[in-house]
Amino acid sequence: MHRSEITVDLGAVRRNVRVLLDALRGAQLWAVVKANAYAHGATDIAGAALGAGASALCVATVPEALALRRDFPAARIIVMGPALNREVGQARDAHLELVVSSDDVPPGVRVHVKLDTGMGRWGVSELLSPPLEVVGLMSHLATADTDAAYAEWQIERFRAATAPYTYLERHIANSAGALRYPSAAFDAARCGIAVLGLSPFGTDPAEDGLQPVLGWTSHVALCRLLRPGQSTGYGRRFVAEQDTWIGIVPVGYADGFRRDLTGTTVRVGGTPRRVVGTVSMDAFAVELDGEVPIGTPVVLIGHGVLAEEHARVAGTIPHDLVCGINSNPLRARRTVVDA
Ligand SMILES: *Cc1c(COP(=O)(O)O)cnc(C)c1O
Repeated sequence: MHRSEITVDLGAVRRNVRVLLDALRGAQLWAVVKANAYAHGATDIAGAALGAGASALCVATVPEALALRRDFPAARIIVMGPALNREVGQARDAHLELVVSSDDVPPGVRVHVKLDTGMGRWGVSELLSPPLEVVGLMSHLATADTDAAYAEWQIERFRAATAPYTYLERHIANSAGALRYPSAAFDAARCGIAVLGLSPFGTDPAEDGLQPVLGWTSHVALCRLLRPGQSTGYGRRFVAEQDTWIGIVPVGYADGFRRDLTGTTVRVGGTPRRVVGTVSMDAFAVELDGEVPIGTPVVLIGHGVLAEEHARVAGTIPHDLVCGINSNPLRARRTVVDA
């Protein structure tokens, strides 16, 4: 038996793509598959997204794009992060599109110029007349999930600054922008988290018609009774006040079940159970109400256990939580299904 099993559902990817295309009402959907599609597996997610109607792939780095190019010889691939000087030639040869944040546009490669409308990170603060290599103008929303007034202000700044160049592709929306701001659609939206069926708002994705792509399960490897005063795990952060059954699950922070997930809920044999004590590198404990058989299934994510809820407990966003999940075959078995 594997320590844990990761399932990736490509049927869910396709349904999420359709939900986003509906929300975008005619604008293109570009699937963001950087960081190995937020640890879901870039090739699998990209293939399903393109098959369901996404019209380009976006990644953060040139090496990520070159790896995808091998599997998708004809797809549009856009590198959103800055390319190193020595990568520009590789990008040209592999027909990648680059994003630049200066007036210095490399020759012979399709380029999107990034305008800083309020993210305060990459991007030029003013658009000069774009040279011929430029195919697109883009920006990025800082608060599409939190502050509507600021997001709308950024969208309108982008609209005004790019108005003379409507013959170029204009794009500003991420998943939150695509789902909440119809005015942000322009020609395309760059969506990652929503393609994976996770809520950019940290709420239940079903509220936006999205279905989680990722399932993650393990099992009870050991069941033991703590007597009053006995504890489990490093630092003795959980001490039994009365006789307490606990289950030990063979997954820990090296697998991506983070150390700050103490107190979150998983399902043991279908019943919600609390994670107690310090999460170790390779194991964590759940509080039970009685003995359960060794091998009882434990759902870490999926089947009603929301990554968004874990993210809330950990004080982070779903992107960060799933990016940390380790699908290295030495640690977990990964299965791709099409349900
Ligand atoms: C990561 C990223 C996105 C996708 O964001 P989601 O919240 O996952 O949809 C879009 N645009 C840029 C520039 C990004 O870096």
